[in-house]
Amino acid sequence: MTAQRVYLSTTIPYVNSRAHIGHALELVQADVLARHHRRIGDEVRLQSGTDDNSLKNVLAAEAAGISTRALVNRNASEFAGLREHLSLSFDDFIRTSSDPRHRPGVERLWRACAASGDLYRKTYRGLYCVGCEQFYTDAELDAGTCPDHGTPPQLVAEENWFFRLSKYADQLHAEISSGRLRIEPASRRNEVLGFIAGGLADFSVSRSVARARGWGIEVPGDPSQVIYVWWDALGNYITSLNYGSPGERSAEYQRWWAGADQRTHVVGRGVLRFHAVYWPAILLSAGEPLPTEIFVHDYLTVDGRKISKSSAGGVEDGSAAESRDPVALVSTYGPDALRWWLLREVPRVGDTDFTVDKLVARANEDLANGLGNLVNRVVSLVHSYRNGAVRPCARPAGTSRWLAAAAGPDHGAPDHGAPDHGAPDHGAAPEWPADAAELRETIQRTPGAVRTALARFDFRAAAAAVFEIVEQANRYVEIAAPWHLARAERAGDTAAGARLDEVLGALIAACQVLAAEIWPFVPDLAARVAAACHDFDGTLPRPQPVFPRIDTVEASLGARQAKVSEVA
Ligand SMILES: [Zn+2]
Repeated sequence: MTAQRVYLSTTIPYVNSRAHIGHALELVQADVLARHHRRIGDEVRLQSGTDDNSLKNVLAAEAAGISTRALVNRNASEFAGLREHLSLSFDDFIRTSSDPRHRPGVERLWRACAASGDLYRKTYRGLYCVGCEQFYTDAELDAGTCPDHGTPPQLVAEENWFFRLSKYADQLHAEISSGRLRIEPASRRNEVLGFIAGGLADFSVSRSVARARGWGIEVPGDPSQVIYVWWDALGNYITSLNYGSPGERSAEYQRWWAGADQRTHVVGRGVLRFHAVYWPAILLSAGEPLPTEIFVHDYLTVDGRKISKSSAGGVEDGSAAESRDPVALVSTYGPDALRWWLLREVPRVGDTDFTVDKLVARANEDLANGLGNLVNRVVSLVHSYRNGAVRPCARPAGTSRWLAAAAGPDHGAPDHGAPDHGAPDHGAAPEWPADAAELRETIQRTPGAVRTALARFDFRAAAAAVFEIVEQANRYVEIAAPWHLARAERAGDTAAGARLDEVLGALIAACQVLAAEIWPFVPDLAARVAAACHDFDGTLPRPQPVFPRIDTVEASLGARQAKVSEVA
């Protein structure tokens, strides 16, 4: 398969409050896609960032009694810090209020739409929810209140700039219904097509400087107005590529937007309309290519309750706050446990309830008992019966190279040059034993199954496909019973000894391939598996647990102690 050039983005959250586990879901999903594409040899750019220019940030800062700049800086750096906490691999992180690339790009986008005749001034009266940063019609309100926030919108009457969205209804419909702009899952595509078919009204794309409290990007040539925060925020996907640099399109823009094979946005269902209608219409007006794919995820609830946007910074009991805070979860349970829960438990469609108990149960069952036990057992068997030296059975091409990089001193998992699953590593590798056929077939099937599942953004199916290797390998340990073979060998049965070599070779090969396949999902754990199963100098390292069982009493004690020391 020829290498693709793939541009992936998360949305950029408002930074009026702290990061919650819902943000972690989207970040981890996008990260898995990026790592998967890198592993199969594609060229990848993954971008995240923060939406700093929202009026909500201004109001949150006023409430906290600090400057908007100070609030935005504090919260934006927390979002940027998730890269390390969640083991994310984004290549770029854009902050819309401080990144020097952003403002010129937004201004260029504005001028391009103005040149197409799509921006005009109009006096407007409307009901505006600051929480959503959008206008609502009476029909869209829920008993006079915002359907999302339950608060009454403000009546806003002023002269604004409007964007001629109505002009693009037919073109948008054609792009989406043809699949040139693919929206997944299909129910979300249908929702967008229905919205377009219902008629698109032009929308306000600026507000008065006074209403914006002077925060945001000025409308080019009209100092009385600030650009609508959604226009500003959506632009981030190309402003980071120096779209705003003067003259010809920048090399980064040509490479990663205009010239990419895939331009994929990962978004939450609440911002679907902005990404699938407004953003493509702005791009059509500006004469630029559209995204090729939008994946829309649903939401998490925590302990059966909605992650309320407004209470995310508020007062609440400690355990509820902990179960929503990805940094607290990772500091207690580690990034692998959290990532694995998000990937293995959250279905492609529908909301999912998160609890700490579910996270612990899943990690203990899959990562400690399933995977951790397998690796520990196999490495221990190789040490007991073969002094740590065994020749792995034939594996997909490039596995050795991948392992050496992943298991290296800095655990720097390789971006490129991944296994191509074509020819075996080298011709001399031992054959697979006949009774390991099922395990071997699982290993051969996994890359294709992962690729297919991730192409439809089914992270749960992809994680399950990889985990099949663990299940099959654990089954094979029981079937082959190496301890019986070792006993027969000691009694002088040389055939049993030869078979023991084969069995251990099959099991260590399975663990090595598992490390490579599971890397996009749980990169830290994958690096530990790689280090445990890679024979640097012909011998495996001494067995060490790659994922110890989570003892909930100790974990909650640790979390409580951590909190106490934070307070002290
Ligand atoms: Zn609202």
